[in-house]
Amino acid sequence: MAFEGLASKLQETLKKLKGKGKLSEKDIKEAMREVKLALLEADVNYKIVKDFVKKVSEKCLGNEVLESLTPGQQVIKIVNEELTDLMGKTESEIKYSSSGLTIIMLVGLQGAGKTTMAGKLALQMRKRNKKPLLVACDIYRPAAIKQLQVVGKSIEVPVFTMGDKVSPVDIAKASIEHAKGNGNNVLIVDTAGRLHIDENLMGELSNIKDSINPDEILLVVDSMTGQDAVNVAESFNNQLDISGVILTKLDGDTRGGAALSIKAITGKPIKFVGIGEKMNEIEVFHPDRMASRILGMGDVLSLIEKAQQSIDEKKAQEIGSRMLNNEFNFEDFLEAMSQMKKMGPLAKVLEMIPGFNSSQLKGVDLDQSEKEMAKVEAIINSMTKKERINPNLVISSSSRKKRIAKGSGTDVQQINRLLKQFEASRKMMKQMKGMQKGFKKGLFGK
Ligand code: GDP
Repeated sequence: MAFEGLASKLQETLKKLKGKGKLSEKDIKEAMREVKLALLEADVNYKIVKDFVKKVSEKCLGNEVLESLTPGQQVIKIVNEELTDLMGKTESEIKYSSSGLTIIMLVGLQGAGKTTMAGKLALQMRKRNKKPLLVACDIYRPAAIKQLQVVGKSIEVPVFTMGDKVSPVDIAKASIEHAKGNGNNVLIVDTAGRLHIDENLMGELSNIKDSINPDEILLVVDSMTGQDAVNVAESFNNQLDISGVILTKLDGDTRGGAALSIKAITGKPIKFVGIGEKMNEIEVFHPDRMASRILGMGDVLSLIEKAQQSIDEKKAQEIGSRMLNNEFNFEDFLEAMSQMKKMGPLAKVLEMIPGFNSSQLKGVDLDQSEKEMAKVEAIINSMTKKERINPNLVISSSSRKKRIAKGSGTDVQQINRLLKQFEASRKMMKQMKGMQKGFKKGLFGK
């Protein structure tokens, strides 16, 4: 999980304060020392840590906190506000042009995740009924053009290329004409990267910038590189005056130093984060929600948004009413599981629940839970359609159970366990239905 170490340390420190009725200056100073260490260990820039702790301490030592009835809560509120502030206060989305064609230029070092991010952005835009065009301007790295074409194909977004013999500036210019002629309203220009910042690269990027005058220049950086990412952001910003940053690989970044330092160092907001290799693993960066997640206060808004995006509401309602009418069968079970799965890996969903701390998962093998779910799916898939609709057929026949076990690579015991669970949930539904009836009778009856 992103920010794992920082989150658990900050939460531990603040929990100690919450447990105390009154806070003394000494309590706060001690807590601030721990906050400072936690931030430094998370690889946050030293100067930022110093300023942050100074600001938080000043606010916490004010009378409002010391004399409050819930001083611990007040301190948490202040830390939350300052963390949010540090990361940029509010989210900053893409600035679309009023001219009808929005030009977005992606820049960054090789391997940062530019090409992947170009695809993720294009997919998001396509889902919002925009008509993006991906532009292949990396003519140096072998296979870069092909990679963009593969990405484009997988998300059904066209890719503009002129091969690797034409200069990137000419390709970028030609892509504008192509977009206009083909009804595209967003250009996402994937540029070349290098392993390190070099003058040639910056010169080329400047030339592209001057020739196409982009609405956004977004720098893609790998959050796992910590302070290096911050230094890269500073250099690119000095040379190109970027409009925002995209942090990739946040899924693997247990420290979070880049996310916490970039805005303060460059003055440019983080607009999106990449949280996995798949095309839908992108999130708008919300500083306030991120601060809440770090402090274990959850991120209910993102959870709801995720559910809204992934779950087919009509189907969910159908399943719900079938459950209440006791018509719930294995087809519904399968459907409910597939809807759940669309929300993403279990660990990422759990992170958004308030009060949830990743340390609570110690000893719990989430991969195992997901494997169990896959097994259940295999069992249900090995049933005939008739059996899925009428589970009693399976419950009453040992030969059917044997066949299903063989087909799903499991054994009869596992089939029986699933059937038992299924029966138990059906029973529960029946009771709920009974309660619902009784409740209605009590209210409106006689
Ligand atoms: P580019 O050289 O900047 O175009 O980088 P690529 O888009 O080719 O990405 C480099 C590697 O990082 C690839 O293996 C990607 O699958 C991987 N990658 C990109 N974004 C993410 C992310 O958000 N999370 C994870 N875990 N991997 C990512």
